[in-house]
Amino acid sequence: MIKINRQIIENLMIDYSRKRLNAAKAADLKRESLYAEFPRLGEIEKKIQLISIKISKLFLSGPENLDEKVDNLRAEIEKLKKEREEIYIKHKIPEDFLEPDYECKKCCDTGYDSEGKRCSCFNKQIINNLYTMSNMSHMLKKENFNAFDINVFSNEVYENEKLTPRQNMYYILDISQDFCYNFHESNMNLLFYGGTGLGKTFMCNCIAKALIDKGITVLYQTSFSLFEIVETHKFNAQAESEQNKLSYGMIFDSELLIIDDLGTELNNSFINSELFNIVNERLITEKKTIISTNLSLEKLAKTYSDRIMSRVFNNFALLKFYGKDLRWESK
Ligand SMILES: [Zn+2]
Repeated sequence: MIKINRQIIENLMIDYSRKRLNAAKAADLKRESLYAEFPRLGEIEKKIQLISIKISKLFLSGPENLDEKVDNLRAEIEKLKKEREEIYIKHKIPEDFLEPDYECKKCCDTGYDSEGKRCSCFNKQIINNLYTMSNMSHMLKKENFNAFDINVFSNEVYENEKLTPRQNMYYILDISQDFCYNFHESNMNLLFYGGTGLGKTFMCNCIAKALIDKGITVLYQTSFSLFEIVETHKFNAQAESEQNKLSYGMIFDSELLIIDDLGTELNNSFINSELFNIVNERLITEKKTIISTNLSLEKLAKTYSDRIMSRVFNNFALLKFYGKDLRWESK
């Protein structure tokens, strides 16, 4: 992945201010047409403004009976608001009719929440930008469902498997496409397992591409680099780059996390507990995960703790890739 540079952030901020401006303009037009239809609403707004100005002036001049005068004026405003509310109710105008219609309701298209943290819509755009600019977008052009050629899989019985590799691939393809089409509806996760060169990474890329095209945030990491990100975040926080911070957040926040090549990382108790943490946290927050691995189920069970495996066996569709090594995984 490339670095998030200042330029990306600046462009996004320009985008946000454009969005806010457009929302404000659209709201102005709505206000005009509303007041044309109900002139009394326009009068009420003007009156409220005038009274507010009077109140400010009172505070500036500070007359003797300041409180009383201010209270009276405030009561007038309340009365006008009440009248406005009644007009709204009578004509069934939605309460928020004049509120600007922001694309993101959470941050009102500012990109930041009330605590000053980046809004999820901001992170989503950064990640999409990163993908567009990284090698992944190039790879995704080549590796997608349209480029999938089922005929490279043999249609002859393979070892003790019931389905031929091709029939098996049809099955996996079906589930993978279904995974994309019903992404928000289902709570399925996928485990791709089996030897190298059988199309697991290719299938991961097809899914990533289909979902990114739908505007879904996808974080794709090999197991090795995934745990590097986690390690840097936990043990080297002072030297942690912006990008690592972002990637770490995305491990938990992305709508889909793809962990490719699980089993190639160094295995130790730290990794075991972090993997559990990631898988478990994502299940709890209903975010989807795809894991691909060259290990057999038996080997997985030996390598990772029971609590990880019970999460995986209970919540992931276990899809076995088998057949002759096709060597089409570009590694
Ligand atoms: Zn937002």
